[in-house]
Order: sequence, then C-alpha cells, then structure tokens
Amino acid sequence: MPANEISGLAAHAAGAQLVPYRYDPGELKVNEVEIKISHCGVCHSDIHLIDNDWGISKFPFIPGHEIVGTVTAVGSQVRDLTVGQRVGVGWQADSCGICEWCRQGEEQLCALSQPTCVGRNGGYADSVRVNSRFAIPVPEALESENVAPLLCGGITVYSPMRNLGVRPSSRVGVIGIGGLGHLGLQFAKAFGAEVTAFSTSTDKEAESKDLGADHFVNTRDNGSLKKLAGSFDLLLSTVGADQDWQAIVNGLRPKGTLCVVGVPPSAISIQAFPLIAGQRSITGSNTGSPHDLFEMLDVAARHGIKAITERFPMDKANEVLVKVKKNQVRYRAVLTN
Ligand code: NAP
Ligand code: ZN
Repeated sequence: MPANEISGLAAHAAGAQLVPYRYDPGELKVNEVEIKISHCGVCHSDIHLIDNDWGISKFPFIPGHEIVGTVTAVGSQVRDLTVGQRVGVGWQADSCGICEWCRQGEEQLCALSQPTCVGRNGGYADSVRVNSRFAIPVPEALESENVAPLLCGGITVYSPMRNLGVRPSSRVGVIGIGGLGHLGLQFAKAFGAEVTAFSTSTDKEAESKDLGADHFVNTRDNGSLKKLAGSFDLLLSTVGADQDWQAIVNGLRPKGTLCVVGVPPSAISIQAFPLIAGQRSITGSNTGSPHDLFEMLDVAARHGIKAITERFPMDKANEVLVKVKKNQVRYRAVLTN
C-alpha cells in the first residue's frame, strides 16, 4: 500500500461488522500530528456510533476514540509536540479554535467540534491524525493500556465532578459500574467524597469497594433506590439504558444534581415538583476540554487512578464489541497493535 495510507477496521453500515479498511489521509495539515497507535479503548459510544443510535454516524468510518500512541509526524506549525512523544486522544480531534467556547478553553462546546470518529476515522487503526491541541502528552507514571480508557471514559466522569464542585463533604453516587463508572468511583474518592456504587451486577460489589465505593447498592433490588431518597449531592448516571429517573431524582438531597453522561434511548421524563421543592437540578456533561484532559491525567498519575482493563489484539475488535454489549468486560476492553 502507498506509504501514507492508514489502515484499520471500519463499519460500512449501521450495525455492520467491522472490516479491514484503508484510507489516504492526504497531506499532513500544518496544525496536525500523526500518531502511531499502540492502544485504543473500546467505549460504549463506539457501539452507539456503529449502530447509528444517535443518527450522526457517517459511514464508512473507523471507530475508536480512547487512543494512546506515539507522534510520528508533526505539521509545520506544531510547536507543542515532537516526534517520538507519547500522547493520548479522546472524543475530540479538532475544533474551530476561535469561537467564544474555544477561547474559554471549553472546546467540547464548540459548534464546529470534530469528534475523532464522526466524519473522520478513529483509533481501531494503525495511525490517526488530529489537531495537535487535541493530542495530550501522557504522564510517564501511567501505563498506556491503563490510561487509554481515561481519554474518554475518565474525562467524562472527571469533568462533571470537577465542574460541579465535588468536595469532601459531598455524597456522590455513580450509577452503572462499567468503563465510565469504575473510573467514576476512583475519581469521586480522589475528590474526597462519600461514594456509593449503583450496579445491576452483584459480582461487582467487592471490586467497587476496592475502587473507592463506601457503599454498594444493587439496583435490581426493588425499592433499593427509594430507601435512599434525599441522600446524594451528585448522582452521576453512566448507564446507556432507560432507568427509573424519578426514583433517581428523588435520591438527591436539596440542591443536589443528577448529571447524565450515559445516553439512554428514550426521553428522560420526571415530575417538576421534586425539582422545585428541593431546588434540584438535572444536567448533562460532554467529555471534557484539552485543559481538563491535561488536568485529569495529572490527577490520575498523582492519585494512582487507572482503568482495569482486558487486552485484545486489534483484529479481535468485532468479538470485543459483542462482549461489551453483553456487559461482560471488566471494566474496559483495550485493543492493541
Ligand atoms: P459500559 O462499559 O458498557 O458500561 C455501562 C454500564 O451500565 C454497564 O457496565 C452496567 O453496569 C450498566 N448497564 C448496562 N446496561 C444496563 C441496563 N439495561 N440497566 C441498568 N444498567 C445497565 O459503557 P461505557 O463505555 O461506560 O459508556 C456508558 C454510556 O456513557 C454509553 O451510553 C456511552 O455512549 C456514554 N458516554 C457518554 C460520554 C459523554 O461525553 N457524555 C462519554 C463516553 C461515553 P452495572 O453492571 O454496574 O449495572
Ligand atoms: Zn467514549
């Protein structure tokens, strides 16, 4: 194949198996870096994109947005990265750089944000190109396999805790202990909160406690949430399925917040009165900015936060996606080259 072709595994239609795929990335842009990929985490959002659950997928495309690798080429105007440096890339590969949100360091809110694998090709591949601002140096202390899932899963749980002011007096519940959730427990502990894990999988109790949960609640146990009414300052839902949202909102203390990061298929319907009477809020959170990624990786390095991973060769991606769908991975699958 021509020297500058990138090869990976692509979905060509909604729900299709991934198949080998090559593309020509063209000339390296002045602000871009090319990265030789060593590891790529398998986020559940890749499955949503392959299945086109959100109606935004552009086929064919190579999924993967929890990328770690080594810089192999830098554009003529790149001054912050050098060839040979280890970097990570998450959900976002580019933004306009000049709107009010980019200027504020909130690039994830840019209207022209370019997700790494929507309209572009992502990390189930040998290489990837991104704007250098979205390639974040990885601290030496972190192993590539354990840090890859932090680039999307980690930042998605770190940012809301940071931005909603989680502190030692906070009572935080993490709902769904998967790729995002098992990192959420660790970050909530690092913020000093009292941490509760909400899970449908009772076999996750011991590990949840090892990861920082003070309490474990089996959400399949009818009424378990009702007993905890009025208990939490923050409930972070990482579940991509419909839930009893009213019981979750009722679990909040006055002024508490439900932050939704998992993407359920149906609309969230709740009554207004518990929001009004307790001045409770519902919000969402979208991964995090390059600045937050820098900060999150530094926090992870200093607090020993890392993903628990299962490693697979890149060419096993289709089998891995089935395992993730069946909730059989503990806790993040990582593909390696
Ligand atoms: P994951 O690894 O599959 O974990 C999801 C967890 O949710 C599962 O481990 C399971 O935890 C729980 N769960 C699954 N099915 C359930 C059901 N029917 N009812 C109740 N709980 C269920 O997925 P992930 O990679 O963490 O991603 C989770 C969601 O976050 C996805 O929707 C993804 O698209 C979204 N996401 C959003 C952002 C953002 O920026 N907002 C970023 C990344 C991902 P238990 O076994 O503990 O119950
Ligand atoms: Zn993701």
